[in-house]
Amino acid sequence: MAAQDTITKVEIWPIDVPITDPFVVATGRLVTAQNLFVRITLRGGASGYGEIAPFPEVGGEDRASCQQVAMQLAKAALGRPASQYRKIARLFYDMAASHPASRCGLETALLDALCRHNGVALWGFWGGVDVRERETDITIPIADLERTVSLARDWYGRGFRLFKMKVGADFHQDVRRLEAVHRVLPDVAFIADANQGFTREDCLAFVNGVKRVGVRLVILEQPVAREDLDGLAALRHLTGVPVAADESVRSILDVRNVLERQAADYINVKIMKSGLLNAMDIAAYARAYGLRLMIGGMVETRIAMGCSFGLVLGLGGFDVLDLDTPLLLAADPVTGGYRYEGPRLLPWTGPGLDLEAHGADAVTTIE
Ligand SMILES: [Mg+2]
Repeated sequence: MAAQDTITKVEIWPIDVPITDPFVVATGRLVTAQNLFVRITLRGGASGYGEIAPFPEVGGEDRASCQQVAMQLAKAALGRPASQYRKIARLFYDMAASHPASRCGLETALLDALCRHNGVALWGFWGGVDVRERETDITIPIADLERTVSLARDWYGRGFRLFKMKVGADFHQDVRRLEAVHRVLPDVAFIADANQGFTREDCLAFVNGVKRVGVRLVILEQPVAREDLDGLAALRHLTGVPVAADESVRSILDVRNVLERQAADYINVKIMKSGLLNAMDIAAYARAYGLRLMIGGMVETRIAMGCSFGLVLGLGGFDVLDLDTPLLLAADPVTGGYRYEGPRLLPWTGPGLDLEAHGADAVTTIE
């Protein structure tokens, strides 16, 4: 007889969530999160959720291609025991190396189901090293001065004190935006995320500009192109501001290259850009070699972001949390799970991710 943790059913459905303010970054613009939800059910009856938030910078992932790949992975997973999740993740990687978001969705649902089957919270499964409330930053997309200041005031009023400013389209305007926010909210600290949008020269001019007006810039995230590790290293040394590598790191090999070139102080870990199991390995490797960790996401609901928060609580070692995208969405298609109170994320207590997803129309079932 097959084991009670055998994967017997995989369901996948599209989920559209409108974004309150258009999400504009140096590389593009998004008004609706067009994601996929995944539910995996085991023979014993436990089921778990995952989310696929397409990561277009990698191999042009979009929802249609993600769904197609996810269905192939689902077929391959059927009949396998969830407790062999590392083996299954290896299989997923061999089948779909260039589709990290699809792998991530299946892997998350697999671990959520396994944890519910075993009655343990996902963070407990990962070790429960750092179970406490944590604070996230809040993202301010690229917008005109007036809009930037009004968004900043709103978030400040809700308790946020670390602002992640999207920059990299026009460094003159970026300096003006940070300066304007700093003038009205002088105790705020900033992360500047250029999403590869700056040249080295623009970035230097940007940093000098914001320093001159007294802005407290705590992290410079991915200022230049992902391949330009020497550029990252140069900016680290020339500006004295800690640099975070985001788009530059999707694999352990990428972490090694960052280390060799001394290109960053932080690695921004994201389950969507590398897959969940690889993200765990990246975090462990980066930390072992003295890099600091931040954790972020694509435009995700509380399913994927709950999984990332689970890594924070379970593995420990994450200094900077950029787990804010559910707060940028106009609706929450999930009940249960972790909660937000202003900028604080409150851990959950039940098994797995301890949440339920809604809006399951147009479900594709693989069994
Ligand atoms: Mg980033």
